[in-house]
Amino acid sequence: MFSPDFYLPALDLYVELTTMKQKLITHKNRKIRQLQELYPDINITLMNKTNYDTLLAKYGVGPLGQASAHGIKKVLYSQEQIDEAVSEIATRISSDYDGKRPVFLGVQRGFICFIADLIRRINIPLDIDFMAISHYLGDDTNTVKITKDIDLDIKGRHVLLIEDIIDTGMTLSLILRHLKKRSPASLEVCTLLDRKTRRIADIAIRYTGFSVEDEFVVGYGLDYKEEYRNLPFIGIPNISVDCD
Ligand code: 5GP
Ligand code: MG
Repeated sequence: MFSPDFYLPALDLYVELTTMKQKLITHKNRKIRQLQELYPDINITLMNKTNYDTLLAKYGVGPLGQASAHGIKKVLYSQEQIDEAVSEIATRISSDYDGKRPVFLGVQRGFICFIADLIRRINIPLDIDFMAISHYLGDDTNTVKITKDIDLDIKGRHVLLIEDIIDTGMTLSLILRHLKKRSPASLEVCTLLDRKTRRIADIAIRYTGFSVEDEFVVGYGLDYKEEYRNLPFIGIPNISVDCD
């Protein structure tokens, strides 16, 4: 039928890249579905050119890796809308984890605004810990490196991972795998933003603030090349590819 372009050993996932027009992508999707039916144990996903470029940009390479942002072109979620979404999640968590003293685990640095607002609306005891990761390209099979691990012992604890945004899900699935080895009593995910359209790794998310579309967002902790984190709202930056 075809041979997939990549195999990602860390995720046990085959990736088929396509630069084709939509009509042909539909055809290719059908092939992938057939392959999944024939070999249900094989994980495979189709990635189009835009998604591929976005993924490369995360590592600072490819055409989008060279781009720069010039201000905000659209406000996506205002401070008030974020407040409301955060309060709703806080109410659910307060009741779901009553009597369980959960461990809130943040992955630096995009979660800072979200976790700060969230914990102040939660009315049950909780612990907080942080992890830091960096995306890098190397000859290792793991493209996400843990640069700061958790300090708390999470064995037998109820862990809630607090994320800013889940995109391909690759970062998260590697972190989850790392945390599961520590035998927590439960491990759930809470994210402010979820961009399902680009998901590569399948992940169950317990709490979501907003579902976002395909556009890159900044503000409320989220950066573009370390800028715009301190905006009180979430917006879409004006990104242009610089040409010399
Ligand atoms: P994933 O591994 O799910 O593809 O990537 C998740 C991480 O990529 C997020 O924690 C965040 O750091 C970054 N990311 C993904 N999409 C966006 C976006 O739209 N805006 C910003 N600022 N970061 C993003
Ligand atoms: Mg993150």
